[in-house]
Amino acid sequence: MGALQTEIERRGERIFDLVDQHPESLFSKAGFYQRMMALSMRDEHFKVQLFRFVDVLASLHRGTDIVQHLDEYFAGMRNGYAPLIRTGVRAAKIVPWVSGQLLRWNVSGMARQFIAGRNPKDVMKMLRKRRSQGIGFTVDLLGEAVVSEQEANEYAGRGLELLEHLGRETRGWTDPLGKNTELFPVVNLSIKISALYSQMNPADPADAIIHLAPKLRPILRRARDLGAFVNFDMESYVHKNATLELFRTLFTETEFRDWPHVGIVIQAYLRDAENDLLDLLDWGRARGTRFAVRLVKGAYWDFEKIKSRQNGWACPVFLQKPESDLNFELLTRILLENESTVTAAFGSHNVRSVAHAQALAEQLGIDRSRFEFQLLYGMAGPVKRALVEMGYRVREYCPVGELLPGMSYLVRRLLENTSNEGFLRAKFSENVSEDELLRNPADLISQGPNGARHVEVSSDGASLDTPAGDTYENAPLVNFVYEQNQDRMREALAHVRTQLGQKYPLVINGERVWTEKTIASINPSSPEDVVGHVAEAGIPEAERGVKAARDAFEKWSRTSFETRCRLLERAADIMHRRRFELSALEVFEVGKAWAEADGDIREAMDFCRFYAHEMRLIGRPRLTQHVLGEESYQHYWPRGVALIIAPWNFPMAILCGMTTAALVTGNTVIMKPAEQSAVIGAMLMEIFEEAGVPPGVLNYLPGKGSVMGAHLVDHKDVDLIAFTGSREVGLRIWESAGKTREGQRELKRVICEMGGKNAVIIDADADLDEAIVDTIYSAFGYQGQKCSACSRLIILEEIYPRAIERLLNAAASLRVGNPEEPGITVGPVIDGKAHKNILNYIEIGKNESRLAFQRGDVPEKGFFIPPTIFTNVDPKNRIACEEIFGPVLSVMKARDLDEAFEIANSTEFALTAGFFSRSPANIERAKAEIVAGNVYVNRSCTGAVVGRHPFGGFKMSGGGTKAGGADYLLQFVVPRVVTENITRHGFAPETTPLYRDEFLGPR
Ligand SMILES: Cc1cc2nc3c(=O)[nH]c(=O)nc-3n(C[C@H](O)[C@H](O)[C@H](O)COP(=O)(O)OP(=O)(O)OC[C@H]3O[C@@H](n4cnc5c(N)ncnc54)[C@H](O)[C@@H]3O)c2cc1C
Repeated sequence: MGALQTEIERRGERIFDLVDQHPESLFSKAGFYQRMMALSMRDEHFKVQLFRFVDVLASLHRGTDIVQHLDEYFAGMRNGYAPLIRTGVRAAKIVPWVSGQLLRWNVSGMARQFIAGRNPKDVMKMLRKRRSQGIGFTVDLLGEAVVSEQEANEYAGRGLELLEHLGRETRGWTDPLGKNTELFPVVNLSIKISALYSQMNPADPADAIIHLAPKLRPILRRARDLGAFVNFDMESYVHKNATLELFRTLFTETEFRDWPHVGIVIQAYLRDAENDLLDLLDWGRARGTRFAVRLVKGAYWDFEKIKSRQNGWACPVFLQKPESDLNFELLTRILLENESTVTAAFGSHNVRSVAHAQALAEQLGIDRSRFEFQLLYGMAGPVKRALVEMGYRVREYCPVGELLPGMSYLVRRLLENTSNEGFLRAKFSENVSEDELLRNPADLISQGPNGARHVEVSSDGASLDTPAGDTYENAPLVNFVYEQNQDRMREALAHVRTQLGQKYPLVINGERVWTEKTIASINPSSPEDVVGHVAEAGIPEAERGVKAARDAFEKWSRTSFETRCRLLERAADIMHRRRFELSALEVFEVGKAWAEADGDIREAMDFCRFYAHEMRLIGRPRLTQHVLGEESYQHYWPRGVALIIAPWNFPMAILCGMTTAALVTGNTVIMKPAEQSAVIGAMLMEIFEEAGVPPGVLNYLPGKGSVMGAHLVDHKDVDLIAFTGSREVGLRIWESAGKTREGQRELKRVICEMGGKNAVIIDADADLDEAIVDTIYSAFGYQGQKCSACSRLIILEEIYPRAIERLLNAAASLRVGNPEEPGITVGPVIDGKAHKNILNYIEIGKNESRLAFQRGDVPEKGFFIPPTIFTNVDPKNRIACEEIFGPVLSVMKARDLDEAFEIANSTEFALTAGFFSRSPANIERAKAEIVAGNVYVNRSCTGAVVGRHPFGGFKMSGGGTKAGGADYLLQFVVPRVVTENITRHGFAPETTPLYRDEFLGPR
């Protein structure tokens, strides 16, 4: 055993001895809290329900509501304590007012365990007490979720007040160790950056810095005048780079360059942590003034894992607990070896991590007064006491604030305390042996594909790990957190800009066809810029297209499905290669923000791979039943010539989705993109040509919908029409396709996706931090031009005043502008016609209801519409019934949930809907009662993912098909069953195969 390990064990045992001299259970407050935690650790389901109940409690005001939620969360529990819990719930119902208050008091007690005071005055009592125990403080102002700039500014103001208060109240306080005091000011403030700016966007750290720096400078100046220390806390990964950059930018400014009392957090659970720390040290040396680093493991482990899994990103955190522990030790060494540049604070409750830092400092000859240990308020009291007794500098992290803004902090602490892998639980609750707790983490890391330090990551930060059990995998979204992805997008925009204005021909039967007339596709942010000139197909070209498709059908329909699947997969690979270029083109041609454009390209790739996957499932004739003496196989033939009519709002994804569904099932295709996005259509054609689509199988024919589009719809040789677009055109197609023309072979099949008038309901107990952000995104993301967008918001009366105030402030904070800039949420609408139409609806809205909010500062050039919100809207008003397809939101108040559902269901459409609530019973009702094709609970109502959220509506929203779903391809085929009597003279084989080879179509 090495000398260091021996010393770590010696020190660890000493800490344990001291801890055991003041025995205390895991949680310093006994009673209700302790019992709840004990139960949580024994029963995972109880833990989930408890934390959810705690999460909602602060927003409930009436005793009856509290007891109602208690009942919903716990009455149905099935565990050893179920009878006890049910008795408790029954008793609570008898006197709801009393029991509601009692519960609230008890849960507030839980919160008080971790929150040092409700306000600056309150917290001083605690700080004085700690001072008498030789423990310093850093104060953190709770309230990290800000949805608007108003809230962010209020947070900044409160931070300044807190600082003043602490400065005043601690005058005359001295350092507990009385040594190296110049490194450790008494007043220490911890700041959460995301609470100071509501529009942080990972793609645009520069914008975050522009907005954050002016808010921080007054706080920093005052802190400096008061001789205080300021620390930047570190939050979730999405904000990490901006926080580091902000820190370096501000403290390189002349004004702050020589100020040593500034610090930042490094999270050891991050794979990036070592590089980030080394960069910081380089920066610190160049700056020439000391600074501080608080080393922690990190508080968002579960969140990071979930988020990265959902988006297909490489998980930024280590997956094994000992990896984080080991990294903590590695970074401890780097910090201590650079002690002349950086002052270290070790933020851990883990005795092994703490003992390691002590032992290493001793080995390196660093005096114990030159670094400090920091621990959280309400946690590991005995460890703090032990460290003080050993003569170390100890500082406590003390959150200040009300229960409601403190809820996310409280839930993080509860999770941490009950985590299976946490040190505190192991030591204080499960009595794991000291030897075990002091083991070297390097010995505990299990090796394997996911083990240790190695993970499979692609060059753009996507995860190459496949979660077990899933057969179909979505392409990852581009993670704009990474600078290289921001750079690639900027380069793509610059490159595509040089390509604008080119000419694109039709493609018929594999030949390029030029026409006299062209369609000029323009940039909606800058209408004088032409993105491209596209040849315009008229009736003669439409005829040629149909003939080419019909001629190609025989061979294509007889091509094996595997060959067709591979074509789609090659197309997806080409899209992947050209991903940034295609996204950049969308920014120019249809005004999509970066992430929205990327989402569209991702969806197109997903359609290719998903439909190939699905085709392989249905491609081979499948035995219908095992019956002796007879074989029956069901299989599918393509329908014929498919006409694809696509919209401009998901210019690649929807066009590609409908086209690939037709191709992979063996149909030949006439592809008609929207005129506004005809260049993206040309790109899709190019991609399929490169992928090897045979001549005539896919024909590219942009043109006027009312002329050649209508002609094709009526054409006797078109067998199938897949349309996505407005209700008006959709109904016309539906009707026209119903007529049988002379010489027509097939009944035309119409696959029709139309609009929506989608409602989001905010229930009385909803988490407004989430509901407001997600509603704003659903209503104003891509300027409200998604068929899934929220255009009606229904708020329960009880929560209406607070919700509406936050909603209007949030809308006022949105970033509106040219989406070439990263981080823009609201760009231009698609064209002049849409612009006029939406402004017209705004005028109608002004007459029908109350204009509660309209942005004043949208760019003059381009088709920009100010985000607009109407209140006092009657559900029968035109703005509440008709599809506007722009950034206009109608808000309605509902007395109760019955009325909310009634309003939500009162339109002719049924596409998407959203419901925000923390009542399990109300969530169940919403799931059952909201009439929409896609119902989203506690999340935005846009952003369906292929395969995960099969998408499409009914009523006047469409024919009930689900794009990206398992049954979508069945629309593009005709089913056949072939039955053979295999009995000969009473003899038949015992078994028949489950699958046969394809029965390819007739010659
Ligand atoms: C004073 C102070 C300030 C803090 N400030 C911040 C801050 O600004 N930002 C922040 O993010 N955190 C911060 N934290 C850290 C965080 O809140 C936790 O307290 C800390 O991670 C717990 O670590 P530990 O060493 O005490 O306990 P341990 O029990 O040794 O470690 C628990 C930690 O290990 C990690 N972990 C758990 N499971 C796994 C796994 N399967 N694989 C890999 N790693 C895993 C997680 O980070 C978890 O929190 C702070 C902590 C303190 C004490």
